[in-house]
Amino acid sequence: MSHVSDGTLARMASIFTRIIRGEIPCHTLYENDLVISFLDVNPLSPGHALVVPKQEMPELHMLSPASAAALGAALPLVARAILNATGATAYNILQNNGALAHQEVMHVHFHIIPKYADGRGLGITWKPCPIDHASAAELSTRVKQDLRA
Ligand code: AMP
Repeated sequence: MSHVSDGTLARMASIFTRIIRGEIPCHTLYENDLVISFLDVNPLSPGHALVVPKQEMPELHMLSPASAAALGAALPLVARAILNATGATAYNILQNNGALAHQEVMHVHFHIIPKYADGRGLGITWKPCPIDHASAAELSTRVKQDLRA
């Protein structure tokens, strides 16, 4: 955030907004009115790409339905082209929301990360534990209530 001339606070343009405006170069893969995709500057593996809505929002749940739909349409298109171009046959989609969840750039983005047989790509460590059915039933009731509101 930064102060503007009338003393109010304005959100600073994210690095991705600056890419969208053409102020910063990138290796573009795809673009339409609502979405842009380009290669990640610090790839986990060859073909690691980002798919970014042009709407300036920090987290996924804040997006308009139009932006969300455009992202949903672009992801398989771009993923397919990356597989064709790299020869990779597997990939992960990663989407972080909030610094606690490892989000560094506060502008919604999806990672497409090809996974190669030699291990290059996203490393995942799961720590699953069995569901508690009583609390799960209570939680699902509360989520459904919120969705109906
Ligand atoms: P995240 O932790 O999900 O916020 O990841 C942000 C990603 O953006 C990282 O993988 C960065 O390498 C990538 N990134 C940051 N700046 C740029 C840039 N100028 N061009 C391309 N990718 C970038």
